[in-house]
Amino acid sequence: MKGFAMLGINKVGWIEKDKPNYGPYDALVRPLAISPCTSDIHTVFEGAIGDRNDMILGHEAVGEVVEVGSEVKDFKPGDRVVVPAITPDWRSIEVQKGFHQHSNGMLAGWKFSNFKDGVFGEFFHVNDADMNLAHLPEDISLESAVMLCDMMTTGFHGAELADIEMGSSVVVIGIGPVGLMAVAGSQLRGAGRIMAVGSRPVCVQVAKEYGATDIINYKDGDIVDQVMKLTNGQGVDRVIMAGGGVETLAQAVKMVKPGGVISNVNYHGSGENLPIPRAEWGCGMAHKTIRGGLCPGGRVRMEMLIDLIRYNRVDPGKLVTHVFHGFDNVEKALMLMKDKPKDLIKPVVIID
Ligand code: NAD
Ligand code: ZN
Repeated sequence: MKGFAMLGINKVGWIEKDKPNYGPYDALVRPLAISPCTSDIHTVFEGAIGDRNDMILGHEAVGEVVEVGSEVKDFKPGDRVVVPAITPDWRSIEVQKGFHQHSNGMLAGWKFSNFKDGVFGEFFHVNDADMNLAHLPEDISLESAVMLCDMMTTGFHGAELADIEMGSSVVVIGIGPVGLMAVAGSQLRGAGRIMAVGSRPVCVQVAKEYGATDIINYKDGDIVDQVMKLTNGQGVDRVIMAGGGVETLAQAVKMVKPGGVISNVNYHGSGENLPIPRAEWGCGMAHKTIRGGLCPGGRVRMEMLIDLIRYNRVDPGKLVTHVFHGFDNVEKALMLMKDKPKDLIKPVVIID
């Protein structure tokens, strides 16, 4: 089979591989729609997870089941499925502790295009199909469905980790696709004022549609000053970090109120430390909580998010700005994600 792969750091290309083998609880799936992620770019061009050779990329896909192992009960060949980016080992100690993302090691629930070949292949392997796949309802488009695998679960996790309450004031730093979903997630959890930090008009427009009440352009000066001005010096209850560099943590600490919560779903890829400003952290006594997490995966998470689309609570299809047809366009879509033209939020490739 053919796949689009990381050949080494900074190198991508098409490769030929054997179809993956699968065990009794697993499934072999072929992609129907795939989307490249900013994390694929971090992986290839920034060496975020170290070197990988001839590893097929991609972790966002909806697909069709091709074959299943002898013990798989709820899925059969021909079923259309949503495949979460995070496919944990459900028989692990970390799952019993409540953190499936870290089953069998920190971040190890993330397998596609990390520890094994990803979804940009003609076929891919899914471990524990009954626990990790979700049926895709007929009435949800492939474009919307493929936003569930990572963008929606990650952005919403930002809102969950921030513990948004009814009426909370929230700042979302970074409004790429993940931050936009954090805006939508904050709105769904009942936030009052939602300030979105971003600059590109295409993202600003969608942020407003998802519930942003104020737009802060980080190119117009210090965002802490801008937030403080908008809140009469009070700051906000919650900050969600979904973009920007390591400096955003200090900004978040400065703009969140005592007792507030900062949640991070951004990838921090540089520097030894994430600095925390001592005074604004109340010299350690301000009750400002900082949390960060990998997105939840697995079947139940996908099924719950599917219902949010089905019952019109959110439309993640707004994130999809570029649609390609044909497997060969995976390369073009990935490079778009690298170059981030002004009109891009997310590209999707439909495999006709
Ligand atoms: P993105 O690059 O499309 O969006 C980030 C946005 O932040 C961009 O629009 C950029 O212009 C903006 N930005 C840059 N500097 C900024 C600043 N100083 N202040 C405010 N905004 C700034 O990326 P994305 O696809 O939305 O993903 C966001 C991050 O989340 C990435 O780092 C990605 O790797 C990570 N991610 C994490 C998880 C997880 O499970 N935690 C899952 C998927 C992606
Ligand atoms: Zn991703």
